[in-house]
Amino acid sequence: MEQLCVLRYDQQSMKRANTFDVIPQSDEDEELLRRLLDASAALWNEINYERREHYADPNRDVWDISEYRGRYGGTLGASTVQQIERKNREAWRSFFSLKKKDEANGMPGYWGNSEDGRELRTYIRNTSYSVKWGEYSRLEILVGKDLKDEYGLGHRERLRLEVRGDPNWKEYDKQGRLELFYDEQTQRFRAFQPVTISEDHFRLAQPLASEEAALDIGANNLVACTTTTGKQYLYEGRDLFERFRETTREIARLQSLLEEGRYSSHRIRRLYDRRTKRRDHAQDALSRDLIERLYDEGVSTVYVGALTDVLDTHWSVETNAKTHNFWAFRAFVNRLACTAEEYGMSVEVRSEAWTSQECPNCGSTEDTTRHRDTLTCPCGFEGHADLTASVTFLRRQTTVTRSMARPVCLKWDDHDWSESPYSVPNEEHTNPQVASVGR
Ligand SMILES: [Zn+2]
Repeated sequence: MEQLCVLRYDQQSMKRANTFDVIPQSDEDEELLRRLLDASAALWNEINYERREHYADPNRDVWDISEYRGRYGGTLGASTVQQIERKNREAWRSFFSLKKKDEANGMPGYWGNSEDGRELRTYIRNTSYSVKWGEYSRLEILVGKDLKDEYGLGHRERLRLEVRGDPNWKEYDKQGRLELFYDEQTQRFRAFQPVTISEDHFRLAQPLASEEAALDIGANNLVACTTTTGKQYLYEGRDLFERFRETTREIARLQSLLEEGRYSSHRIRRLYDRRTKRRDHAQDALSRDLIERLYDEGVSTVYVGALTDVLDTHWSVETNAKTHNFWAFRAFVNRLACTAEEYGMSVEVRSEAWTSQECPNCGSTEDTTRHRDTLTCPCGFEGHADLTASVTFLRRQTTVTRSMARPVCLKWDDHDWSESPYSVPNEEHTNPQVASVGR
């Protein structure tokens, strides 16, 4: 079977990441932090400019750049100067490898500019920061000597920041390079901390029973899920998808305004970035919410239908492409598999063609009609189309004998997936019968 969780890199350990808010404890601390992130962006831009110049000049070497520690070390500290340079080198390496495959999307970009403002962001070496987890969690980061002097920090002192949020991984064996940035959308400082956890440290959970579940993945309903215990979950994605489309339209509009020969701009990249972050956040939260619910149900195997097959059957090419784009199907399955792994559950992708238009009552696929979210059949069946599809899919994998409980409907509010009353999918029908499974 294909290894779905690619984060796992060997038998004994797993790679995971914490994300959390970081809060300066005074105006002075906030100013210091902003200067640190701004100087990091200035450094990135200088390095990147130099590399672009070298790239354009056949007599020069992209990898051979000036020494920046002298000018930036006092503000950032030597190790952070080195991390920014390394991060930029990685960006150029990936540019070259994409270029080889003819997939490059332009040279590495700048982190804003001094006129419109730089993107506040930095990378801190694993030995140059520490996090203390507890009731009042704290992050301490290295700053350069000049900033310490200016803000009255002791020579061995680090900038201390409050950590807010409840990261999943507080016990780990190794921490990686910390990414620290200002999130303009939420107007907060955020940290991204990769960690390595060994299995000695983290015992994987075992499934409670050997129940199964099947998922239908789409754009309007992100996930429709049915379990062999008779539970159904519907994750509503309409608002999220609508915002994705809005951002996509805005990107297209800005692209049409670009001067000839230019392919992107700072604003466009920022929109792309925001769009991706929003999707990733919702997907991460969905994976965890769903897997925890399935674990409690005793599920040990989760079947996911390959999206292409689903879409070929009844979706338009346009919707198909949009969903793929929006949902980043492979990345989502990977996320799901990694989360499932923590609970000892497995995720299996089934590429067999399965129609979303099959009637669960009489098995007809020709006579059914789908209108918005409702599937109807001349035999009298009427039910939620995506939930019905997940039932049909589940039946193809296993025997389902239990009847279905009322579906749990979940909505995204930018932070959490929370339960909302199950609403009638189509107002023209006043009494929809939810797909029942017992034959
Ligand atoms: Zn029927």
